[in-house]
Amino acid sequence: AAHKETHGFQTEVKKLLQLMIHSLYSNKEIFLRELVSNAADAADKLRFRALSNDSLYENDGDLRVRLSVDKDAGTLTISDNGIGMTRDDVIEHLGTIAKSGTSEFFSKLSGDQARDSQLIGQFGVGFYSAFIVADKVTVRTRAAGEEASRGVEWQSEGEGEFTVADIEKSNRGTDVILHLKEDEKEFLDDWRLRSIIGKYSDHISIAVQMYKEEVAERDGPDGEKIPAEPAKWETINKATALWTRDKSEVSDEEYQEFYKHISHDYGDPLLWSHNKVEGKTEYTSLLYVPAKAPFDLWNREQSHGLKLYVQRVFIMDDAEQFMPTYLRFVKGVLDSNDLPLNVSREILQDNKVTQAMRQACTKKVLQMLERLASNDKDKYQNFWSEFGNVLKEGPAEDFSNREKIAGLLRFASTHEDSPAQTVSLDDYLGRMKEGQDKIYFITADSYQAAKASPHLEIFRKKGIEVLLMSDRIDEWLMSHLNEYKEKAFQPITRGELDLGELEDEQTKQAQQEAEKKVEGLTERVKKVLGDKVKEVKLSHRLIDSPACVVADEFGMSTQMLKLMQAAGQ
Ligand code: ADP
Ligand code: MG
Repeated sequence: AAHKETHGFQTEVKKLLQLMIHSLYSNKEIFLRELVSNAADAADKLRFRALSNDSLYENDGDLRVRLSVDKDAGTLTISDNGIGMTRDDVIEHLGTIAKSGTSEFFSKLSGDQARDSQLIGQFGVGFYSAFIVADKVTVRTRAAGEEASRGVEWQSEGEGEFTVADIEKSNRGTDVILHLKEDEKEFLDDWRLRSIIGKYSDHISIAVQMYKEEVAERDGPDGEKIPAEPAKWETINKATALWTRDKSEVSDEEYQEFYKHISHDYGDPLLWSHNKVEGKTEYTSLLYVPAKAPFDLWNREQSHGLKLYVQRVFIMDDAEQFMPTYLRFVKGVLDSNDLPLNVSREILQDNKVTQAMRQACTKKVLQMLERLASNDKDKYQNFWSEFGNVLKEGPAEDFSNREKIAGLLRFASTHEDSPAQTVSLDDYLGRMKEGQDKIYFITADSYQAAKASPHLEIFRKKGIEVLLMSDRIDEWLMSHLNEYKEKAFQPITRGELDLGELEDEQTKQAQQEAEKKVEGLTERVKKVLGDKVKEVKLSHRLIDSPACVVADEFGMSTQMLKLMQAAGQ
């Protein structure tokens, strides 16, 4: 092989390899899922590129992936005729981790094997999982549209480095050759491979094939002759895109496997919804809510969105136009019958079809969550603890669904003695006092601070529930949420506190008398504090504390002021 170079793996790859080999050992067969998944992605990419350049097929448009073994050499080969890779592609994709969330992932590792293997699973293992079972991996590849002489061979023992060299490769695509470790020879076994493929690959849209040896002519049970069968490549999976199948024919396991294929997540999803929509716009959607937040959830720039297909042809990953940002954790597939095959991100941007699908998909996800919230409270709490703070961005972003989103929010409150966010606004409405017409809340830096606020004293005394908010985003959320089911939100730290109907006549009279008594005092305090305060007022909301600071009714709340100060304003 010519032009052979040795490269070092990116440090992160070395660490990942180390970790993976040791902690994913008990689930080692997943390497096959990853490699077959890559072959299917390569087929999708080729189909897409061929839309504008048919010659890329090189008269071989039957896309498939083939598994073959060489028992003598101890190798298992996964071979596809997809898009292939150039030398630069190989060095980049099989030498680094380009994935988002990489640094977060590495910063979370603890050294505890059980915990870390969970994390690796969440992060996704991909191509490098080959080294769980192989002590040497050879990749031979040639990109579609290139000359046979532009083939590349990559090789590594999964330690510090890999080599790349130029080779001749007449057929397009990628062969991954695994030199199996001494005690991993089970993966040379035909039945073992078939059963793994059965488990992991039925949803893959291209054929997964294994070689079937020729069978000689033989005698049947009644002495008749059964004809010989020639050796052939046999397709062993269903090889139809899962979302095109009828719901009733897809098992939960298949939905879960498909999720792993498209999301690069290793755990099962929390829930999913599969819909064929006919009528003005025609499309199929398969939407998943993950069980665990990805590492890059807080990076709003990071890729998210659905996998877009048009008439079953893969068009792009991460089409974010179909999901609002506050639902960026949703994964899935959208297959449209109305969009043109040459659709681009620019065309998607302001397109009626896109908008209709985005609205419908948004509704679908909110509906799925509503259903989960009423059918399975525990599972919904799981969802909330992973993604609740993302959903809180919703009311600001999506005016039309504000009420629906509000119904999905969960808060800590004075009704529960716990920082856990478990109280819904409907729970709150159900516990409102006779005559109460507002939803009271307080925002603070921490749950403890909210809970200890002197502003709560009067509410405690009267037995009125107050929502205790202490996430950074809560202030932002509440500035976009004015009411829920026609009940206004009222921050208890602001301006006049009018408990309205909740006060009885006797109290009102007593308050007026008290006001007269301290008239001189408030003026004196104002003089002492000078410009530091706008006004000093008598308050009836304190029970045990002598005084407290409140924000002006129309000014900024104390929390917002703190946020602005932190931002240097
Ligand atoms: P992911 O599939 O999540 O991108 P992987 O580690 O599985 O991560 O693969 C890394 C990259 O290597 C892929 O994104 C792709 O660019 C390239 N690659 C891997 N296998 C193949 C293949 N069979 N054909 C073409 N490219 C491949
Ligand atoms: Mg992959």
